[in-house]
Amino acid sequence: MLRCRFPIERMLRRLEEYSPSGWGSLPQPHPNHCYLPSSSGGTQPSFSPPTNRNGATGMSKHAITTDTKMGESIGFWKGCRPASVGCATCYSIVIQMPGYGYKHPTQVTVNKDYDKPRRFKTPSMVFVCPWSDFFLDDPVPNANRDEAWSIMRKYSQHIFWITTKREKNIAKMLPRDWPLPNVWLGVSTENQHWADKRMDALRQIPIHPDALRFVCAEPLLGPITFSGPSDLKDFGWVISGGERGNRKHPPRLDPQLDQWFLNLAAQCTNASVPFHLMQRGGISKCKCHASYGCRAIPPGPNGQTFEEFPPQVQIASP
Ligand code: SF4
Repeated sequence: MLRCRFPIERMLRRLEEYSPSGWGSLPQPHPNHCYLPSSSGGTQPSFSPPTNRNGATGMSKHAITTDTKMGESIGFWKGCRPASVGCATCYSIVIQMPGYGYKHPTQVTVNKDYDKPRRFKTPSMVFVCPWSDFFLDDPVPNANRDEAWSIMRKYSQHIFWITTKREKNIAKMLPRDWPLPNVWLGVSTENQHWADKRMDALRQIPIHPDALRFVCAEPLLGPITFSGPSDLKDFGWVISGGERGNRKHPPRLDPQLDQWFLNLAAQCTNASVPFHLMQRGGISKCKCHASYGCRAIPPGPNGQTFEEFPPQVQIASP
């Protein structure tokens, strides 16, 4: 067990105290602590659902056909520390791990089962470190990260996708033979402030022609306009979602959230970038929704869902 020095509540308080001014207008928690679509009947956004662009461009050598979508993951280590305002209800350190009996989720535990991808029967999209940040510095030993890279290298039939809130660490923690063709890098961008900062930083990192950079605007805490430092050029995928939480740490679900999703989708359509809405936020096991909120967006004319993938990923028919 690798010990972290700061208790989580204290870290969260410090994040609030030292928030840059760009974080000033955070949405407040929904009064019901649950996602409920706005009934205000406001103006409907003008938007046409994008068509699925899978196969619209030439397939790269490292393309996969998967029936698991984004269902596989590998946690090389568990435990993390908050990095920015989007961590306030992080499901690993605030929501889930305490529920699983981890009293100190900021303590990092290294997973012994690094060879898990061997058991994936079909080429899969494998989410890396769902319970932590892959580019977490202290106290993750470099030797563990090196071993993790070697696993990704070894199982080249899979696509490993990594998202981080520690954009400053990426360059110094990449392997010597970077870029790898089957590893996608993404940054977490909960609002405009972090979209500008992190997308600009990730843009400087070289990426293999068969791989891509992506944006993970989840939990979405504010509207994002992809321009200037956060231009979508050089990015091949945008994922978004609402904030998840529990009664003690309620998610911040702004009444404008669906509009923000639609705006992201429209920007992606204009930039020919696939857009994927993971979920719309909420509380686990909420009575209103089976899980964290369905993907269909009520304000749209048809309750659109957005499940686009980059051309490297073909979803097999069931
Ligand atoms: S960086 Fe990611 S895993 Fe770590 S605390 Fe923040 S949201 Fe959680």
